[in-house]
This record gives sequence, C-alpha cells and structure tokens, in this order.
Amino acid sequence: MSGHGAEPGSLGKAVCILTGASRGFGRSLAQELCRRVMPGSTLLLLSRTEDALRGLAGELEAQCPGVSVRWEAADLSSGEGVRRAERAARELPGGHSVEKIIIINNAGSLGDISKFFVDFTDPEAVDRYLSFNVSSTLCLTSSILKIFPGRPGLQRVVVNVSSLAALQPFKSWTLYCAGKAARDMMFRVLAEEETEIRVLNYAPGPLDTEMHELGRKETADPELRLNLIDMKNNGKLIDCQVSAKKMVDILQADHYKSGAHIDFYD
Ligand code: NDP
Repeated sequence: MSGHGAEPGSLGKAVCILTGASRGFGRSLAQELCRRVMPGSTLLLLSRTEDALRGLAGELEAQCPGVSVRWEAADLSSGEGVRRAERAARELPGGHSVEKIIIINNAGSLGDISKFFVDFTDPEAVDRYLSFNVSSTLCLTSSILKIFPGRPGLQRVVVNVSSLAALQPFKSWTLYCAGKAARDMMFRVLAEEETEIRVLNYAPGPLDTEMHELGRKETADPELRLNLIDMKNNGKLIDCQVSAKKMVDILQADHYKSGAHIDFYD
C-alpha cells in the first residue's frame, strides 16, 4: 500500500509509546510513526541504550517538526525498569486533543537458543527470560492503559510484535516460541475483555537485524541455523522499513479483527 494512506500526518494527533526503539525493527517503527503522526503528537522511545535513544530522538525531531520525541533508558527485564518506563509514560501529554494512543510492545530477545528443551533445568534462568519477554509486556501495557483511560474521541491501540514462532515450534527456540505464544494469547484476552481497544499481534517476517544475526550464530538446531543463514545469503530477509510501513498501514486502515495475528506475508 502506498500513496494516499501513508501521507504525513495521516495517523492524526497521537501519543505513541514504543519499546525496543533503539535499533532493528523498533527504530524503523519509530521513523515510520514519526512521519505519519500530526504535529502536536508525542513519541516515547524506550530501550536500554541511552546514546542510541538520544541520537534517534534528535534525528526524528529534526525530520518531523512539531512532533515531540521523548525517550527513557529502561531495562524492561527488571521491575525497576518497568516502573521507570511507566513514570516516563505518566509524564506524556494526554489532553483532549489527542486522538490516538498507540502502545507498541516491540522489545524482545531470543533467549538461550544454544540449548534444547531438555537443557533448561534452571528455573531462575527461565524466569528471567519470561520476566522480560512476557511479564514486562503485560505490566507495562496495563499501566499505560490505566494512565490513558478510554474516553470519547480517543482510540486506544495496542500492538504486540509477534512472530511465526508464536504459532509454530522451532527446535532449540523453546523460550522464544513459548514467550511469543504467551504474548499472543495475552493480547487476545485483552481484545476479548476490552472491546473498545484495538489489539494487533503483528509478525514482521524475517528481518535483517541483530536478532537474526544472533539466530544465525547461536541456534543449536543445525537445520534451523542453516535455514537462517540461507535467508541472509539469498536475500530473503525483509527490510525493517518495509515491514514497519506495512504494520503502520494495517493500523491506519483499521480493518483487522481486534486480537488477530497478522503476518507480514498475509
Ligand atoms: P533486535 O535484537 O535487533 O532489537 C531488540 C530491541 O529490544 C532493541 O531496541 C533493544 O534495545 C531492545 N531490548 C533488548 N533487551 C531489552 C531490555 N532488557 N529492556 C529494554 N529493551 C530491550 O531485535 P529485532 O529488531 O529483530 O526484533 C524486534 C521485535 O521483532 C522482537 O520482538 C522480535 O522478537 C520480533 N521479530 C523479529 C524477527 C527478526 O527476524 N529479526 C522476526 C519476527 C519477529 P537495547 O539493547 O538498547 O535495550
């Protein structure tokens, strides 16, 4: 989709909160959102790396006059990090002229993919993975929804950046598949409970990012590892900007069933 719908400002006056904004898919999402919101909108960028966030915020403010870009360095694998992110969200302007709140849960990690199911014997290591990839996603989203309660004239949109791994098992990706499946289901429950909130589980397709590179290096299952390497070598990875544009197009068109899992290739 191109042209009309993707015009600058076409998303209206929005407050967008984006995790994992410092690099990879999140960085492209930040650029796409910034271009598509109206002046007077605000973006909050979250991740751990302060320098990357500061640099990106500066770039975006220069490219998109009238859009306020804030950032907060927060490690979402800890309760303290989630609270930091919440505090930053509480300081965002939420006046009556805001038409949309868009919460995008993009941050994530592969976990230890050098192991198979039978190697996970340490419950604390598993808890640490789930704490970042599942618990923080739930708690941060809920806190933000409380900070911005529903009101007439406000559309609240929640996105979970999902994966094919939410639907399909991949050998040696036990934690990643389990975390993505759990996230999809959590957000399906949200869609059932809060029918006025628009909820999207978006699988961005295989992307040329650090996460994919890690997959190519550390995946224990040889067949999957070769498959990932083949994707990279044969130009099968999707450009983050292309997938980010597609995701924002889906949000803007607003035709999806709330809670649906939509893949880049759909
Ligand atoms: P990257 O690993 O390239 O980026 C991950 C982002 O998450 C970074 O901005 C990172 O920033 C942030 N992050 C990592 N750990 C933490 C933490 N503890 N607290 C806060 N932020 C953190 O991943 P991608 O861009 O590839 O992936 C983005 C999303 O897309 C993920 O949810 C992933 O599962 C999903 N996805 C990716 C695919 C791919 O092929 N790459 C395929 C399908 C889905 P920082 O280090 O600064 O904290």
